[in-house]
Amino acid sequence: MGDWFQTIVDVEASPEEAGALAEGVLSWLVSSGVVAAERTDCVLGAELGHASGPRAGEVVDASGWSGPWQGGLAIKVGRTVFDAGQGDPTAVTCPHCSATVELMGDDFTLDHQAWEPFRDVVHDWDEGRDVVIPCPSCGRPVEPTGWRWADDYFAFGHLGFTFWGWPPLRTGFVDGITARLAGHRVVFLDGKL
Ligand SMILES: [Zn+2]
Repeated sequence: MGDWFQTIVDVEASPEEAGALAEGVLSWLVSSGVVAAERTDCVLGAELGHASGPRAGEVVDASGWSGPWQGGLAIKVGRTVFDAGQGDPTAVTCPHCSATVELMGDDFTLDHQAWEPFRDVVHDWDEGRDVVIPCPSCGRPVEPTGWRWADDYFAFGHLGFTFWGWPPLRTGFVDGITARLAGHRVVFLDGKL
């Protein structure tokens, strides 16, 4: 259960503004009692995070949740490919012509031939390089952040808030965070490591 995570990614924040936006959201979360101000060893996949605060129970729907929960919030500032953890991406769509490339073979495993060009797009973006490839269907070049991933499997961004081991976040709470992100488009990911 502790490996389950939910991530809110601001996919429009620039590298320059990501830090200030992160500060704004964090101070709201701390002053509302949702997370602790100090960072401790309470998250997976990151060094340190903010543990749940006294009022964290109010922002989640714990009705289907068994047992106590803990874990914390990891805030990532900087160019990152956020992903849904386990499994593979199933399909990707061109933003120009809306043609969809199936990445899953008939046996429900990754089609390596189809995935090949996209692998570089994803991995290189994480490492700071923009790999622009042509759409296999219309031939037009597509920026790395332009591809639309099925089920939001990947989200490319400079700012993400990952809640580790929390019950499902309430919609109103996610909206509250989104409202503090300068009107940017937000992608919500959840999954397991
Ligand atoms: Zn296309």
